Amino acid sequence: MSYTVTLICGDGSGPEVIAAAKKVIEATGVPITWEVAEAGAAMIEKYGTPLPDETIASIRKNGVALKGPVATPIGTGFRSVNVAMRKTFDLYANVRPAKTHAGIPSKFENIDLVVVRENTEDLYAGIEHMIGTDAAESIKLITRKGCERIIRYAFDFAVREGRKKVTAVHKANIMKCTDGLFLDIAREIAKEYPQIAFDDSIVDAMCMRLVMYPENYDVLVCPNLYGDIVSDLCAGLVGGLGMTPSANVGVDGAIFEPIHGSAPDIAGQHIINPTAAILSGAMMLAHLGETTAARSIEKAVADVIAKGEVLTKDLGGTASTETFAQAVIDALK
Ligand code: NAD
Repeated sequence: MSYTVTLICGDGSGPEVIAAAKKVIEATGVPITWEVAEAGAAMIEKYGTPLPDETIASIRKNGVALKGPVATPIGTGFRSVNVAMRKTFDLYANVRPAKTHAGIPSKFENIDLVVVRENTEDLYAGIEHMIGTDAAESIKLITRKGCERIIRYAFDFAVREGRKKVTAVHKANIMKCTDGLFLDIAREIAKEYPQIAFDDSIVDAMCMRLVMYPENYDVLVCPNLYGDIVSDLCAGLVGGLGMTPSANVGVDGAIFEPIHGSAPDIAGQHIINPTAAILSGAMMLAHLGETTAARSIEKAVADVIAKGEVLTKDLGGTASTETFAQAVIDALK
């Protein structure tokens, strides 16, 4: 079986981490033809849009993409390429695992959390406007369909991955309609999965509990904005943004990417940690059914980090992005 995968390098440090991930994936021997496509700020001059039609067509055809981070201007300028991709392909589930690795200094051991973030609704719906010059309004859109499918995805994921508990994260005490709907639906759907424990938490309390007792949590299902914030918090518990991969999954396709941004402050220096991109590649292989290759990448990454000889700067080492990737490849053998 051979696969064709759309490859988007992205902006800033994106090309460095994606090149590293591609090399590691290729070293597993899984036959992949890469279809290189472009997205990002630099495309505006060439195509008039940061997300060219050719890129959309490539992802539509292949159904799977590995993507580097793409910069989004703050306040003004074009809307996020990431949000546009998630909407175009209805990639409603954003799966963000955060796991401790032996060898990375952390206040906690044995963290193994997965944030399942709704990816298409909430304040990311982009329904936002100025009211005159001194006020602005944004609509928080939550639908029954959006809640049902993400909450079911979280429970099905928990069953599939042998996990024990799902926690719904919300602020239903204040946003009684929107988050209230999310919580009501979570409580209803939880009854269909008696083998999985269920509880819920208000998002602010959740943040406090995660930094005090992360071991009490397993799968967290969140509306879009809380999922974005809580998953970065979880990344901080396990060694930072360099360590956490993600999958954006929908009915018609899946895009795999590190959760970190384009890291413009270190772009071109070849010091960025490619672990998040490499582990995103492992998630992609698992999605393609290549679970043996996926697990071997995860183990090789864990072995290299545990050894502590080849680490990037963010993990206290001096290795370049490329040297780290090569160490992972060597550990695959
Ligand atoms: P960022 O994640 O790019 O960087 C935050 C800090 O973490 C920086 O100091 C950076 O050097 C460091 N960092 C990030 N990833 C690292 C890694 N793998 N190894 C070592 N250090 C790492 O966040 P930002 O600066 O807020 O965003 C930069 C740009 O990226 C923005 O335009 C933002 O919109 C975009 N962004 C894109 C995505 C995406 O495409 N999925 C996600 C988040 C942010």
